[in-house]
Amino acid sequence: MARTSLHPDVAEVLISQARIRRRIAALAREIARCYGHAEVSIIGVLNGSMVFLGELLRQLPMQTRLDSVVARSYGARTTSNGRVSIRRPWHLSLRRKHVLLVDDILDTGRTLRRICERIRRENPASLRTCVLLDKPSRRVVPFTADFVGFTIPDKFVVGYGLDFAERYRNLPYIAVLRRGI
Ligand code: 5GP
Ligand code: MG
Repeated sequence: MARTSLHPDVAEVLISQARIRRRIAALAREIARCYGHAEVSIIGVLNGSMVFLGELLRQLPMQTRLDSVVARSYGARTTSNGRVSIRRPWHLSLRRKHVLLVDDILDTGRTLRRICERIRRENPASLRTCVLLDKPSRRVVPFTADFVGFTIPDKFVVGYGLDFAERYRNLPYIAVLRRGI
């Protein structure tokens, strides 16, 4: 049964479940057009990409290989000295593979830039990135994703895999929390 009641901590639903589903179906078609029948090695950034990637993956028609990476950022997220380290890298060999890196949200750009640098060292045949959400106004390092679900304003959002202190990842929509949560 569909969940209709709003979580009590939610102030505003920014993107409904129905819109997310429709957009992910369209993204899957864009990705399929881009790669054709080529095999794609998909690397999901944990934990945020889990819910989005689960939905996207099932709609990709080509042969895929799936792996994941865990990254952590240190330092205040809003300052330019925030650093990102790779805590657990992928296991698959990416040499001469078409790699698609998938994350929940592109914010300052540091996480994807750092992971892309590491992937390029393995000499993939190609490297593209896909994010459910993009907050271009927050960018600290130049970065453009190849496939973007939704461009959103500078608000801290949760749901559809995105967390606040590991909570709210299970909300089936993208939402803004009430103040003081
Ligand atoms: P970046 O390195 O681009 O600044 O940030 C990417 C990571 O920051 C995302 O994978 C996500 O974990 C976190 N992040 C950035 N903005 C938001 C947001 O609005 N909500 C949540 N829950 N996480 C965010
Ligand atoms: Mg994340």
